[in-house]
Amino acid sequence: MSAPNSDSAPTQPQPLPEPSLAAPDAAARLRVELVLMAACLALVAATVLFLWQARESTLAQARQTTSNLAETLLDHMDATLRESDNFMALVSRSVLLPYEDGGGATQALRDEILRHLSEQPALHDVYVYDSSGTLVASSYATRRHEVSARERDWFKLHRASTRDDLMLGAPYRVEPHGEWVVPLTRRLAYADGSFAGVVVGALSMAHLQRYLDRFDLGPDALIALNNAEAQVLARRPFSEAAMGADLRQRDATLYRRADLKAASGSYMAVSPLDRIERLYSFSRSRGYGFTVVVAMSRRHVLASWQRSAAVSSLAVAAVVAGLLLAGVRMLRALRQQQALADELQRSHRRLAEIQRAIDVHAVVAVTDVRGVIVSVNDRFCALSKYSREELVGSPHSIVRSERHPPAFFRQMWRTIARGGIWQGQIENRAKDGSTYWVDTTIVPLLNERGKPWQYIAIRTDITELRRTQLELETAHEELARSNQELARLAAFDPLTGLANRRRFDQALDDALRAARRDGEPLALLMMDVDRFKLFNDSYGHPAGDACLRRVAMALRGVSRRPGDLVARWGGEEFALLLPRTDAEGARVVAELVRRAVQLLAIEHRHGETGRVTLSVGLHSLLPGPGTSVTELVEGADRALYAAKRGGRNRVVTLEESLALADTPVSASTPPP
Ligand code: GH3
Ligand code: MG
Ligand code: MG
Repeated sequence: MSAPNSDSAPTQPQPLPEPSLAAPDAAARLRVELVLMAACLALVAATVLFLWQARESTLAQARQTTSNLAETLLDHMDATLRESDNFMALVSRSVLLPYEDGGGATQALRDEILRHLSEQPALHDVYVYDSSGTLVASSYATRRHEVSARERDWFKLHRASTRDDLMLGAPYRVEPHGEWVVPLTRRLAYADGSFAGVVVGALSMAHLQRYLDRFDLGPDALIALNNAEAQVLARRPFSEAAMGADLRQRDATLYRRADLKAASGSYMAVSPLDRIERLYSFSRSRGYGFTVVVAMSRRHVLASWQRSAAVSSLAVAAVVAGLLLAGVRMLRALRQQQALADELQRSHRRLAEIQRAIDVHAVVAVTDVRGVIVSVNDRFCALSKYSREELVGSPHSIVRSERHPPAFFRQMWRTIARGGIWQGQIENRAKDGSTYWVDTTIVPLLNERGKPWQYIAIRTDITELRRTQLELETAHEELARSNQELARLAAFDPLTGLANRRRFDQALDDALRAARRDGEPLALLMMDVDRFKLFNDSYGHPAGDACLRRVAMALRGVSRRPGDLVARWGGEEFALLLPRTDAEGARVVAELVRRAVQLLAIEHRHGETGRVTLSVGLHSLLPGPGTSVTELVEGADRALYAAKRGGRNRVVTLEESLALADTPVSASTPPP
């Protein structure tokens, strides 16, 4: 298994792929808004159009209904009037004949004809007036009207005019029941055309009213019959006030508008009588000049249309609301998608910048879980000196050096295979065999189950750093050695290797304190090579040095006890510190020292014995609170001086030196 360590790095800073979430732009949102608006508008427009058409069709249907009825009523009235007219003509002829023929017909016959009037249900009565306005005949012989017609409008009209068409007059009531009748009048003329009188038929409106009552056109519907003078002759519903009313004076639309002069037509108008808006259809009789008007209340006509329009509008409004709601949701979703896309793009840019930063700084490699390189960056290639083609697909161990033991990599793999992050410094080998060091962090990329599926290793080249570190370490060691040497130099005499004066002073101080503390005796030997100046003079300075080294060795050989310290006091003088040693013990050691030097048997032609010898001054004491180092040293020094004076190559204690102070020098006994 290869370690994803070394510098494997993912393929160079390959640019991160652009986020694939297509960002719906503002234009797309606008498109959605426009489509939505258009759909809503189209729906509303279609609905309005449909409703308009339905309304038009409803109105057209009502127009048709009222027109048909108007035509029907017109036909009926025409027929009725024609029949009445014929009968009246018959009556008038029967009445006039006698005048024309010189009285051929009898009154009885005339009355007989008039009695046939009962077969004319529409006619209430028939009267005949002569040219003077005197009633000459009536349908009921027993009810002769004495009233003259001379002052009647229709009488004046017929008398003045030569026209002989049937005229429909203003309605009036007849006694005894107050029935409404409409006078049908026709001019009577003699053969020469001169005015002979007027025949009058009282048309029963009750009869017509019954007929009109058959037609139910809903609430506020209206059926009216007007004469040529625009006077109301009949009406459904019946209205006392309306009978005979002059519609011209009431400003009725039919008589006001110029476009309504045709034989028939339809129009919408508000009635001046009851202020109700209606759809009117009218038909004018050509023969008799009357007009039939049939009207339906506009509200009634459009009621069912209004209901269905309301339902349709509600339904469409609901659909539009649904559409708008869906659109709003869609736009919101689009906006959210846009926000997500923006965020994704920002994240992508950030990631790309981070990747660029990492690639600039670090050596990066990605491996699969087996340690096979998946990608590396440029720095990896540059550092390992392999091409990307050589690296990708190779095990990461391609850059492994022999520096680290297998256990090192086993531990690393254990860590990252568990999903942990591994950090450490690794030496890798480049293609050309050179090695380099990398500070490595391996981070496992985990799948949804938390298991690593790839490892990314981020490294920094620390070869230089390590080299510097090594140099630094070497320098440190060097320094330590120098320091040691310095310390040694500070403590030891370079010629003899013995402790130097500094060190000895320190040891002496410590030993005195310890002796004082422990109540132990302490002894100091001061030693000086005899006649050494002469030795130098005789054998040269280097021989002097060699001599000093041998003497030092001899001294060291004697001072074997731990705690004993021999030092070079200066020049050819030496000192030996003997802790826990009383005067007696110290003398034994001093003698050993003196003898050891003598036994070196170094020739000294000017020496007393012909050899190099040593004089020893000894001072031993049990230190008290006031005892000082100076006291000890001066004591030993004084004893040494005494030894010199006493003839050299001998040991003298301070006590002896004090005793000798009064005796001649020669009194001292040279040792054997
Ligand atoms: P005495 O018996 O009275 O001690 O006589 P001396 O000649 O030893 O007297 P002194 O102490 O005056 O002479 C010491 C001589 O030791 C002087 C100097 O030349 C010599 N000497 C001191 N240090 C060294 C050294 O490190 N190497 C050598 N070769 N000679 C040294
Ligand atoms: Mg000396
Ligand atoms: Mg000397």
